[in-house]
Amino acid sequence: MQKQIIFILLLIISFGILAYSLKRIFLFIRLTKPFKIEHIGRHIIEMFKVAFFQTKIFRRPVLGLMHAFVFWGFCIILFGSLELMIDGVSGYEKSLSFLGFIYNILIISGDVFAWLVLIAICVFFARRVFLHVKRFSGIEMKHKSHQDANFALSLIFVLMVTLIWMNILSYSMHPAEYKLLYPIGSLFGEFFVTLSPALLKTGFEINWWTHIIIIFVFMNVLPYSKHFHVFMSVPNVFLSRLEPLGKLPNMDNITKEIKIMMNPDTYVEADQNPPVERFGVKDAEDVTWKTYLDSLSCTECGRCTSVCPANITGKKLSPRKVMMDLRARMKEKGPSLLKDKLYDDKKSLLRDYITTEELWACTTCNACAKECPININHPILIMEMRRYLVMEESAAPSGLNTIFANIENNGAPWQFSPEDRLLWAKDIVRIRT
Ligand code: SF4
Ligand code: SF4
Repeated sequence: MQKQIIFILLLIISFGILAYSLKRIFLFIRLTKPFKIEHIGRHIIEMFKVAFFQTKIFRRPVLGLMHAFVFWGFCIILFGSLELMIDGVSGYEKSLSFLGFIYNILIISGDVFAWLVLIAICVFFARRVFLHVKRFSGIEMKHKSHQDANFALSLIFVLMVTLIWMNILSYSMHPAEYKLLYPIGSLFGEFFVTLSPALLKTGFEINWWTHIIIIFVFMNVLPYSKHFHVFMSVPNVFLSRLEPLGKLPNMDNITKEIKIMMNPDTYVEADQNPPVERFGVKDAEDVTWKTYLDSLSCTECGRCTSVCPANITGKKLSPRKVMMDLRARMKEKGPSLLKDKLYDDKKSLLRDYITTEELWACTTCNACAKECPININHPILIMEMRRYLVMEESAAPSGLNTIFANIENNGAPWQFSPEDRLLWAKDIVRIRT
């Protein structure tokens, strides 16, 4: 009973803190602009393809398989964690065993996946510490980013070790009963079956408590670290952009203006809509909630930056940095915006975090969006920030300003009058006549 009371208290505190953190993020999301979701069925297919079947990750087969083991392992082990919590509250053991065959399959898979995840985590650790992979570095990758990654890997490592020990000791305490339930745990458990039941029970309890406390710590660290993608990656893939990547979305407010010019009757409709606050994106609250979710989902893996032609050729632009900057800016400004919607700290995402040099270095090739394992769309944010520069500040590079002036005066990007447009064909016309 004492164990149950302590557990319930810890459970309430942990979920209370988690609810506070998630509420804060939800309020930040509400500060951003709307985003429409259409074609739910196609979004679900994309989610299964990219998130659950990990198709993008498998482009590099060996490491891809290891990532997939970690993801699938987490999905399966989540079931075991849920059962641990129910056990902790109820005081029973194996509370979900009434699920019968499905339960057995999940527990057997959990025992196997605990080992696979452990091996994968060791490989990831070794790769970070010894191999100095280029995509893990960059101007945006501060010491804290590396610490954050190593800390999360350490927590997962301890989670898997304690889970494996729980399985081994469970078998050692009940060898006849759990032989099939722990296919790997039973192999190691054979070495301990002769130990006293009291000693086995103590070993099990130590691992049980360590495991559950690490779960509580981990779930509360996640919302404040890049590992928030554990929560966010599946929903983010569900919300993936479905159109071809190269297609740039129109600006609804500009489309409306043009419709009004073409058909004044639409004035009535226009008047009912609120005025446009700002064209494009200047600061964190100007992005859509989908773009903000992109920034929260970023794992800082650097795959996007490693294929960015601007970055490869020595430009300042790093698509990973663009996402990290948006997340950092909202973290900085969001709390004050929640108190006062008009709060202005005389800083902005544009220029204070992302420079115009970075923005104009983008070729909009979309290699970053194509490479990102969770379908984050960086070019859309870069494009929206450029739209702000052009439409609100007329601050395009001089080459583009010439093109814009030509479009305005000549109806084409070239510096020739529209009347001269067919001059190139005058000889052809003469021959025909
Ligand atoms: S779209 Fe821009 S940011 Fe993305 S890879 Fe191409 S140049 Fe880099
Ligand atoms: S945006 Fe995607 S590819 Fe780039 S670092 Fe983040 S998760 Fe990795």
